[in-house]
Amino acid sequence: MAISTGREPVVITIQSGPQPADFADVRATNFAVVLRHLRMNAPCSRADIAATTGLNKATVSSLVTDLIKRRLVREVGMTENRVGRPAMMLVLDGSPYAAIGLEVNADYLTAVALDLSGERLLSWRRAFASASNSPGQAIASLAALAKRAVAKMGREDRRVLGLTIGVPGLVDADGVVELAPNLGWREVDLRKSLLRALNEPGYPLLVENDANLAVLAEQRYGGQGSTANLVHLTGGAGVGAGIICDGRLLRGGRGFAGEFGHIPLDPDGPLCGCGRRGCLESLVGMSALISRSLPDVSEADASAPSEFGPHVDEIHRRAKAGNAHVLDALERTGQYLGQGIAILANLINPEYVTLGGYFTALAPWLIPDAEKELLARSIAGRGGGTKIIASALDSSAAAAGGAARVLDAIDSGILPAP
Ligand SMILES: [Zn+2]
Repeated sequence: MAISTGREPVVITIQSGPQPADFADVRATNFAVVLRHLRMNAPCSRADIAATTGLNKATVSSLVTDLIKRRLVREVGMTENRVGRPAMMLVLDGSPYAAIGLEVNADYLTAVALDLSGERLLSWRRAFASASNSPGQAIASLAALAKRAVAKMGREDRRVLGLTIGVPGLVDADGVVELAPNLGWREVDLRKSLLRALNEPGYPLLVENDANLAVLAEQRYGGQGSTANLVHLTGGAGVGAGIICDGRLLRGGRGFAGEFGHIPLDPDGPLCGCGRRGCLESLVGMSALISRSLPDVSEADASAPSEFGPHVDEIHRRAKAGNAHVLDALERTGQYLGQGIAILANLINPEYVTLGGYFTALAPWLIPDAEKELLARSIAGRGGGTKIIASALDSSAAAAGGAARVLDAIDSGILPAP
């Protein structure tokens, strides 16, 4: 909420990043209001911002002057197409800045850099076999990728505002990866190791669960508007859920919420990467989906993350050609997925569940049966209104969310020094 002497405006926050430490820091709060207004409505004038946010005109003027000085906002000229006097229009600038996100997954590393307005400055993906790399080797590869991205931003005269790394596992508040079964990691102090490898950089460095980052990207760039109740499912070796509930990222007590893939679905089911039996992931994760769909592929081959991409392409090709075995396998996978989504719907009643990662390409075949299960198992009528859709984001979703996480800090009024 913005603090002003005039009308008190209502501001819905979809805020997951750090908040100003002291809520009495009125100016930071007001910066946040102006920046978020511009992110959603630019180009707009100072008078527009004052009218919509309830901040008085002198306050807006002073805030905008400061934002222009820090090159976070710029003027783009007068407009004549409006009732009343022509006004100077403002947009987000941020051209001297960059926010970086990285992701480590079972079969790839990605890096994304965004400018303040969300424009992509770089998007890299490289194959990476976590199974044949120790955590130390993985950290060295991540650090090398981070250094390259930071150096590229430096050559473009951009200052790095922060770097966030997404990991498919349980990440605590200090950036320690407690467990990442599909990377083979346990108790890896990723944040500290990367800080050391990057020579203690001056920008903030955070480690976060990959699904949590992907849902932030989905929320910002996915096209579901400003929905306050959204779940993004990662479709990879593991199946994680990033959950935005009532406008906030759901983290839970120690940050371990959203382990959708380890919902116990069948006590006699297949062995899961976590060592238990019949977790949802053991039924719908990529290894299970590939084994079920392509009987000609050996079990070892089906569970090799480096082969997920080609196998999913083949499943897609056969499904399109109407191959009965593949269609049947996707139907069963959709059913299991729907059973898991029905549990989510009963617990948190999301408006959208987006299927990400490798699920996205197969969504046309997974969604109809997932929806049937959701409707049949949801206590609320019509699945409580939950819609299952394909994610509009590609496999860089978590890295893009990592960069968006950095932008969240700016949007909450924590500004870079001028
Ligand atoms: Zn499990």
